[in-house]
Amino acid sequence: KKEEWIVSNRFDGKVVLITGAASGLGQATALQVAKEGAKLSLVDLNSGALEETKSKIAEAAPNAEVILITANVADEKAVESYVNETVEKFGRIDGFFNNAGIEGKQNPTEDYGIEEFQKVVDINLNGVFYGMKYVLKVMKEQGSGSIVNTASVGGIRGVGNQSGYAASKHGVVGLTRNSGIEYGQYGVSIKAIAPGAIMTPMVEGSLKQMDPDNWEEVGKQFVEPNPMKRFGKPEEVGYLAAFLLSDQANFINATVIPIDGGQSYKY
Ligand code: NAD
Repeated sequence: KKEEWIVSNRFDGKVVLITGAASGLGQATALQVAKEGAKLSLVDLNSGALEETKSKIAEAAPNAEVILITANVADEKAVESYVNETVEKFGRIDGFFNNAGIEGKQNPTEDYGIEEFQKVVDINLNGVFYGMKYVLKVMKEQGSGSIVNTASVGGIRGVGNQSGYAASKHGVVGLTRNSGIEYGQYGVSIKAIAPGAIMTPMVEGSLKQMDPDNWEEVGKQFVEPNPMKRFGKPEEVGYLAAFLLSDQANFINATVIPIDGGQSYKY
């Protein structure tokens, strides 16, 4: 079976902290690293959906130790607490998937509301910064660790109608480059991923914004320009994130890796 090629023991004895773990890319990554032996601290706003992630992990990796933390990543104190809780429980943090984010309402720049802009930036950019601030302290003391920040193709290219999203995700790439330069000397590497359209609840919501009744057809048209003519799958991002969170990717630092079927390089 395909899956058996990929499952290994890269995370035996390792602690992985994931935000936005209740859904989509965070959940897929949690499942992947749990199958590879990780102890997990899972953070999300949505406590009910976090429980569902925990049940899926219990099925896929019955021995995995998991703690669930309901927290808003845009609240600095809550971020400090989720980092402290993780260290109190497991003693260390080896991998941090700094991933929670929202898309926000799509509108041209002049109609992109100020409140919407601030909300998207608070969660997607400030939330990622707070996470790095507290986790880096732990990893620096350990002398090891890997941080993977979730940017987006909207963080390396112009997409349109997404002022807040574009600003926040370009900002995530900037934070990644800046901090990677600072912390490499402590054995800590920091990278960003730039997913293209991956079929998660977020993208489904986005297609429904475009056409609530006909969103599946809109989805087909949406992926037509993609060289691979399809959406990515959450588990494909899970494989990438797991590699980047593992010791194997220690020399990959201060850079951004697209996972988009090649779309961001198409002329
Ligand atoms: P999703 O909506 O399926 O999952 C996001 C999770 O983050 C949800 O469980 C949600 O409850 C949580 N969350 C949102 N705001 C939060 C907050 N303030 N505090 C704590 N948790 C919060 O979306 P997804 O597609 O899995 O997206 C994950 C990340 O990937 C996001 O940063 C998103 O911008 C990015 N991304 C997704 C795609 C895609 O095509 N799906 C493409 C590029 C980037």
